[in-house]
Amino acid sequence: MNHTAYGTVYIVGAGPGDPELITVKAMRRIQIADVILYDRLASEELLSYAKQDAELVYCGKAPGAHAMPQQQINAALVSYALQGKTVVRLKGGDPFVFGRGGEEALELAACGIPYEIVPGITSAIGAAAAAGIPVTHREYASSFACVTGNRCHGDQSPVRWDLLAHSVDTLAIYMGVSQLGAIREELLKHGKPASTPVALIERGTTASQRTIIGTLADIHKLAVSMHLSNPALIIIGEVVRVRERLLQAEQQAVALIS
Ligand code: SAH
Repeated sequence: MNHTAYGTVYIVGAGPGDPELITVKAMRRIQIADVILYDRLASEELLSYAKQDAELVYCGKAPGAHAMPQQQINAALVSYALQGKTVVRLKGGDPFVFGRGGEEALELAACGIPYEIVPGITSAIGAAAAAGIPVTHREYASSFACVTGNRCHGDQSPVRWDLLAHSVDTLAIYMGVSQLGAIREELLKHGKPASTPVALIERGTTASQRTIIGTLADIHKLAVSMHLSNPALIIIGEVVRVRERLLQAEQQAVALIS
């Protein structure tokens, strides 16, 4: 087949949940796509901007239940591009942050298919901001790390909780809901104070966002009693205090005005 007949594959970040937080570039790619392969965490509202005859393919991956295995997704991207179609691979947040976008790009590159990466606001940044938590702050934090929570034990590339407990000020943990107890234990074991503030942000940036605040000492119990569910982010660090300060300041301002 003539190389110029290949369609382009756009690996696109949909942003953290609120459909308005998508980029202009991502939106333009959605509008021109012949086929959109989308994930569970990409807001479905965004699909309403697709062409009327665009083919919409759900590749959703609920935790523990993979609707379409990654290899099959890779093969589908290649196959649509070989048919000359313009393809959008729409992913929640940023496609290269725990999104397997790197694997998809490698596959496309290996097959000689033109592709473009369109970055998105990753959910840790979006959800923390929407909850009033700056991931850095001059008084509280000069560094932050994005960490996966689902490689807590016995993986080939395990998360170094021993180092993270001491060397990074703010921890933003993805996919950590089911591992919260183990994560908490690791950090306490490696010397993180039990009084360290923790925020759990469920469905961040969406209309149903919920934020639970505690400390390393009590956060697991809080999460269980409040039935924390996916998708949710765990933010650990002194920056969580800024949220409380913002809320207090707002209340004082309201009291002054009224
Ligand atoms: N590529 C995505 C992350 C995919 S991993 C990104 O850049 O955001 C999936 C994890 O992302 C979930 O387990 C959860 O921890 C987090 N997540 C995604 N959307 C979220 C949201 N709206 N609120 C809270 N956490 C979210």
